[in-house]
Amino acid sequence: MTTAKQILPGATLGVLGGGQLGRMFTVAARTMGYRVVVLDPDPASGAGLFADEHIQADFDDEAALKKLASMCDAVTLEFENIPSTSVRLVASGTTVYPVAESLEIAQNRDLEKQFAQKAGLQPVPYHAICADADVEAAAADIGFPSILKINTLGYDGKGQYVVNDLAGLKEAFDAVDKVECILEKRVDIACEISAIVARNAESDIAAFPVSENQHRNGILHISIVPARVDESLSAQAVERASILADAMSYVGVLAVEFFVTTDGQLYFNEMAPRPHNSGHYTSDACVTSQYEQQLRMMCGLPPGDTRLVSPVVMVNMLGDLWEPDWLKILGHDNIKLHLYGKKQARPGRKMGHYNVLAENVEEALDTAVSVFNELSR
Ligand code: ADP
Ligand code: MG
Repeated sequence: MTTAKQILPGATLGVLGGGQLGRMFTVAARTMGYRVVVLDPDPASGAGLFADEHIQADFDDEAALKKLASMCDAVTLEFENIPSTSVRLVASGTTVYPVAESLEIAQNRDLEKQFAQKAGLQPVPYHAICADADVEAAAADIGFPSILKINTLGYDGKGQYVVNDLAGLKEAFDAVDKVECILEKRVDIACEISAIVARNAESDIAAFPVSENQHRNGILHISIVPARVDESLSAQAVERASILADAMSYVGVLAVEFFVTTDGQLYFNEMAPRPHNSGHYTSDACVTSQYEQQLRMMCGLPPGDTRLVSPVVMVNMLGDLWEPDWLKILGHDNIKLHLYGKKQARPGRKMGHYNVLAENVEEALDTAVSVFNELSR
């Protein structure tokens, strides 16, 4: 049984970041009777609109961070690029999960891969590049084709360059202004999967079913659950994600992305210290959503049941589709629509998603794809 302080309905929870993940957390928390305060600079923050209170301020605004801490029984975050100094400042006034140390590992590709490797996971072979002097050694070590990835602030494939020779590598390193990078071997991916686990301060761990993820232009397009991979691979992914969470003494929801290569290897790719796009399916297809799970972890509660109630396929809706014909989605009785409340659609901007629930994964995938094709016409 849990012994740490438990934070119960009626208490106030804070979120650093007010995008869609914060919004879905806010909905879950308010549904369960918690008050929610969101800190985000955007006056139209999708989470801020649903929260009891929205502190409209930058993530490094010390007065605003202190105010958030003073108002909240516990604080979490919805994206990993909140400065860890800000998280430390909030943590001097209230409980914050995940802690700054976990965040700092996940913010830096080199650190997270080093950490994962020490914990016994297997990252794709890579070589750190901090300056021109490292470029040739990296090329000799990793070879080509490979991918140059900036160490910090990359997402949705941004800050990544596929390089085919030394000249290309030098060019790419110039193009990123010689910030710290890694050169990573390009592997032949059969499929990508993610394992989302949740851990509380009592070391209780619960894992959601593994999701199979397909990307388009570096952005998650479709998640398929259960993943169509060997059960032993799924089980390994869950085990490795749990090992990683334990190794960090992590508290919160942790998403871990893996590559399954054509020769059957399971490589660690990266982690996200928060609910993840590939876990959107949990809102409609699991007993507990990843957002409720995040709340349970930060509040010192036992994890909720992660059981999959129905096969499900999630499709991300980007601004490219706007303005969609809603009836093409809502005309189906087995599709659940989620919109993020963003007024302006731009190509590549995440506007919403839908979850298709069906008797089996093939049926869910058929419907998901045919609806997407109709919307894209
Ligand atoms: P991001 O932080 O932008 O999500 P990732 O490292 O996850 O960055 O890369 C984005 C996508 O690029 C991956 O989901 C995968 O499809 C592809 N990719 C990344 N690294 C490799 C690699 N080493 N080999 C082959 N494909 C890769
Ligand atoms: Mg990724």
